[in-house]
Amino acid sequence: MHFPAFDDFYQRLLFLLPFATNFGTVERKFSYVDSTKWHETFPLCGGAEQSPIAISRHKVIPIGLPPLQFAGYDELFQDLLRIQNSGHTVNFSIPPTVFGERPSVTGGLLQDFYEAREVHFHWGSQQSKGSEHLLNGRRYDLEMHIVHRNTKYSTTEEARNNTDGLAVLAVLFKVVRTGPSFYQPGLTEIFGSLLHLGDFNSTYVPPVLITLGSLLSNLDRGNFYCYKGSLTTPPCSPSVLWHVFAEVLPISHQDLPKFWQLRNRHGRPLLNNFRPLQSQETRQVFHRRPADQWLWI
Ligand SMILES: [Zn+2]
Repeated sequence: MHFPAFDDFYQRLLFLLPFATNFGTVERKFSYVDSTKWHETFPLCGGAEQSPIAISRHKVIPIGLPPLQFAGYDELFQDLLRIQNSGHTVNFSIPPTVFGERPSVTGGLLQDFYEAREVHFHWGSQQSKGSEHLLNGRRYDLEMHIVHRNTKYSTTEEARNNTDGLAVLAVLFKVVRTGPSFYQPGLTEIFGSLLHLGDFNSTYVPPVLITLGSLLSNLDRGNFYCYKGSLTTPPCSPSVLWHVFAEVLPISHQDLPKFWQLRNRHGRPLLNNFRPLQSQETRQVFHRRPADQWLWI
């Protein structure tokens, strides 16, 4: 038996598949060397409410915001992490916890529940620090982003198209000249993975189950800055409610250089993957301090 229409359908599908794959990667093709030209390909990068920004304690608005409320952050993931070198960063998807749901956050500027989807990092080089946000005039050595999606949206693309689509928790790190004995398990596993992630597209699965909360170590989760901004990589969608913790975590001087040894898709060093500062314009940046909870209650 022969079904011409059926064959034709599959021939078309096979013809289209490579293009579908390419469309997926076209969107991700960008370079930090010419980040000031991103808007030529990705118009939103030249638009309003862009990130990162410089946060200064003298210019923020102290406010009695509710604390961030974390759910599932201290429960073990049900799967091992699969950490990868994407060519632009080191990242991993967030698995569900042993109780079957992904960790989530609400409170702060967030009106809804936001589910953790992905974690990645931004760094500099031996010559320059590489956090994206500046705190009180200082750029720090490393910045971790925990990306959450509003649970009322079912895809990341849908979330990106709404101003309340995403919530990113940002943690800054400062290099210290001691060994890594002070880490909680999650950071030990991630920083230890870097030695296995030198090549573009390489992946590594640390053999230990961790919690998402261990990436925050014991920082003060009640002390944070927040503002309305954007993705800091193309397509730069203005869809992110940023929460940047005021406390800076330590990273060992033995671990920070491991980021500088990664390579991009061209086999060249993957360095300085941070976007330049964007204009704050008329946006307000709020500061929620632990003492504010008494005002709020
Ligand atoms: Zn980021």
